[in-house]
Amino acid sequence: MLEKREFYINGKWVAPAVANDFHVINPSTEEPCAVISLGSEADTNAAVAAAKAAFPAWMATPVAERIALVEKLVEVYSRRGEDLAQAMSLEMGAPIDMSRTQQVGAGIWHLKNFLTAAKNFEFERPLGDHAPNDRIIYEAVGVAALITPWNWPMNQVTLKVGAAAIAGCTMILKPSEQSPLNAMVFAELMDEAGFPAGVFNLVNGDGVGVGSQLSGHPDVDMVSFTGSTRAGIAISKNAAETLKKVHLELGGKGANVIFADADDKAVKRGVLHMMNNTGQSCNAPSRMLVQRPIYDQAVETAAEVAKSVTVGNALDEGRHIGPVVNELQWNKIQGLIQKGIDEGARLVAGGLGRPEGFNKGYFVRPTVFADANNQMTIAREEIFGPVLTMIPFDTEEEAIEIANDTPYGLTNYVQTQDGARANRMARVLRSGMVEMNGKSRSAGSPFGGMKQSGKGREGGVWGLEDFLEVKAVGGWATE
Ligand code: NAD
Repeated sequence: MLEKREFYINGKWVAPAVANDFHVINPSTEEPCAVISLGSEADTNAAVAAAKAAFPAWMATPVAERIALVEKLVEVYSRRGEDLAQAMSLEMGAPIDMSRTQQVGAGIWHLKNFLTAAKNFEFERPLGDHAPNDRIIYEAVGVAALITPWNWPMNQVTLKVGAAAIAGCTMILKPSEQSPLNAMVFAELMDEAGFPAGVFNLVNGDGVGVGSQLSGHPDVDMVSFTGSTRAGIAISKNAAETLKKVHLELGGKGANVIFADADDKAVKRGVLHMMNNTGQSCNAPSRMLVQRPIYDQAVETAAEVAKSVTVGNALDEGRHIGPVVNELQWNKIQGLIQKGIDEGARLVAGGLGRPEGFNKGYFVRPTVFADANNQMTIAREEIFGPVLTMIPFDTEEEAIEIANDTPYGLTNYVQTQDGARANRMARVLRSGMVEMNGKSRSAGSPFGGMKQSGKGREGGVWGLEDFLEVKAVGGWATE
């Protein structure tokens, strides 16, 4: 078993102030795979003090130097990609091939996009031709606490660290206690890339401990959080006392609206997208809305596709899906599948219990419910497992109403070969992102949600701006 009790504070690996062991569980086997420490207030304070002390010099470091360090980070990250992939598969259950490509790849993608955004970003710019003596200066918010989840660990860590580093913020990362190992590898990469001591710190801990200590800390200027809506609300309340800036990326319950004229791969694509990462994505297309003329065929196709999805150990190579992250999530998903059955949705694939051939590991059967309505629990709650909910509709208006009738607003999807209709839908769907006909968003696109899906945007220029304050200067001397 791996022993990973130390924290990375002020450029060094240090022992926790008070011993507090926590076992990281391999979800494929239910066995502990590592022991870490959950930090205490003294550890949190030490990391915040290091970040605070490092802030003035880091903020004053020319942007070009900060960019150069992130470029170096990309190089080291690429070299150590296999270590990151192994850690993620071991602790959160993404199958190793998927970890190598999608999970690790997401990190490089975000870091590179930030580099592009930063090179084109005017940190000092004129207000406008009418005001030659005004300048707008973008400067770092300050000390940033970065609290990340376990589902797309490197995706989340790089979205926050990359932007904060370029913006000139110093930071304390608290990764999920469920998946801390990849973040500890990442801390090694930050060290190797040569970031000055105190710019990046990592303290492991849980939400009630280090998480709350960070969100309430008077010397933390900003919290950037990704995870559950529940924790997002708790963090916002706790941060209100010190009026911190709070950035939130929360849950989702995306609609995938499939019109009768959709291309013939639309249903299959939607099911496979839902099952990717074992359904543990905030932007999963978890409600499939299908227009009545093709509904019966779509249900048949969806069931077939779900039945063809194989499940397997995360450390085995191949195109299967892995387990869900932990026992709590497994139980939550089982409870929601039961709710779907009890509330009268028609189970057409999967269902309760482990897939055939498994008596251990947090494996879930790829599941499809048909004939659901939008008031059912499986249509309202984020299941965060490989469970698809299918709902029929008749008209475009009805589809819009159903799609928008949710507390969430992260990503919606539209499938139609009628371009004018696709664009109309994109305008009225209440979500931070809309993806149509299987086309995902391009490099530098902002990621984030409306309503209870969050506050703020990550990625590209928007992600950078999130870690920046805007300063308006009058009376600027023109040379
Ligand atoms: P969570 O929100 O509890 O955990 C995410 C991170 O927040 C972890 O680092 C955790 O330690 C921390 N945290 C928890 N409570 C906190 C608090 N009060 N203050 C500060 N930090 C806190 O998520 P979870 O319990 O692991 O998963 C529960 C549900 O959350 C899932 O079923 C899913 O619906 C949702 N979720 C969403 C995302 C996403 O990407 N939006 C990611 C993970 C989980």
